[in-house]
Amino acid sequence: MPLMQPPETVVEITRVLEAAGYEAWCVGGGVRDALLGIPNLDWDLTTSAKPLQVRKLFRRTVPVGIEFGTIGVLDETNVMHEVTTFRSDVETDGRHAVVRFGESLEEDLARRDFTINAIAYSPSRDELRDPFGGQRDLGARTLRAVGVPKDRMREDRLRALRAIRFASRFGFTVDAATWQAILVSAPYLGKLSPERVQQEIVKTMNQVALPSVAFGMWRDSGAFAELVPMLAGITDVELLALDHLRLPLLDRRPQRLQLRLAGLFSAARPGTVLAMLKALRFSNADSAWIGGLVERWHDMGRGMKNELMQPEPPADSVLRAWAGRAGRTRLAPLLRIADAHWWAERERGRPAPSRERVESVYRRAIRIAYRDPVEVSDLAVNGDDLLRIGITGKRLGETLRALLQWVLEDPSRNTPESLSNRARELS
Ligand code: ATP
Ligand code: MG
Repeated sequence: MPLMQPPETVVEITRVLEAAGYEAWCVGGGVRDALLGIPNLDWDLTTSAKPLQVRKLFRRTVPVGIEFGTIGVLDETNVMHEVTTFRSDVETDGRHAVVRFGESLEEDLARRDFTINAIAYSPSRDELRDPFGGQRDLGARTLRAVGVPKDRMREDRLRALRAIRFASRFGFTVDAATWQAILVSAPYLGKLSPERVQQEIVKTMNQVALPSVAFGMWRDSGAFAELVPMLAGITDVELLALDHLRLPLLDRRPQRLQLRLAGLFSAARPGTVLAMLKALRFSNADSAWIGGLVERWHDMGRGMKNELMQPEPPADSVLRAWAGRAGRTRLAPLLRIADAHWWAERERGRPAPSRERVESVYRRAIRIAYRDPVEVSDLAVNGDDLLRIGITGKRLGETLRALLQWVLEDPSRNTPESLSNRARELS
């Protein structure tokens, strides 16, 4: 049995490079994850061949990062594999390295960020190169910078956030000197572009099982204070709630991500979230969705909690009112956020609605939201109908909202006749 088995297409790329007289090694996440026994289809390669030489050897290539020495090689199934020329970074400004191509694999491994990411594997030799003790750290579940941690973090501030992400993703402890270097780095994180910061938050949310660990480190290291000050005071219970978000199915990644982000940003003060998301360069659509959900949580969370802590379950009319206020499609995610917060509160011994109550109400509320009229557009009359009976201007919108309130109390009122009569009464 070989030490590890990269995908056949990756092995084939190393064969082609070696047949042309170059060195070729698998590096980074693929090797690390194979040693951890975690599947990873994304194997990167490093080679002594220069980018133009790589391009000559393969039929279909993409110059994905040619200025950094990275060529994408496409296999028959159109999957791209990144092949990067040995590098040794010379100068940096805290983010961008001035790239120089390196002479050796050892040099290339030395410029990598963490020991567990600096292990190389050669399929043809079935040999590992691990000059920085990456396997030892994998065994000890330790995240450690390659070389002198403070220097490495100074070279590239993003590494502080990457360290937190990798440690949380694998449940590793950050080595003491590396953590110290992260603390020292925190005040300089403002050098990172908002796009990068957003990308780290998103990757973290997509990769970790327990966001409380990762974002607890963002708080404790000072990263939030520097990058997202509104979250600097996030409490332990608010962090814990993130671990209890019951996520939509695995194949619905965008929703999972948005829900987790809404959970995180629900720790910020009301009215601040939309601007914060835009500053982090989230798209307008994502900002509106996440911001809208967080505002509803601030607006409705306390009332929902009170209602669910009463001895009797809430009446249908209460659940219709929630659906109306949240909006039909936002009700489920809102209740998931609420559920997560209450779960965390119970876990910390604080009063919160019981799990059973929340579960049964969740199911009822969703059924009701999709069965009953809960939005103005569900009403059996519309603006034109009201105009015809002489209701105009500002009164029109007010009347529609009043009719909705009236229907939320009793959905059997939602007929053209009773609504027209009611509208006449109101005016
Ligand atoms: P993932 O599974 O999340 O993709 P990965 O280890 O492949 O994990 P990438 O961001 O894809 O991470 O980077 C690939 C490799 O490049 C890393 O394993 C590491 O060796 C190196 N690397 C990436 N970013 C940096 C950085 N900022 N500083 C130093 N080395 C880096
Ligand atoms: Mg990768």
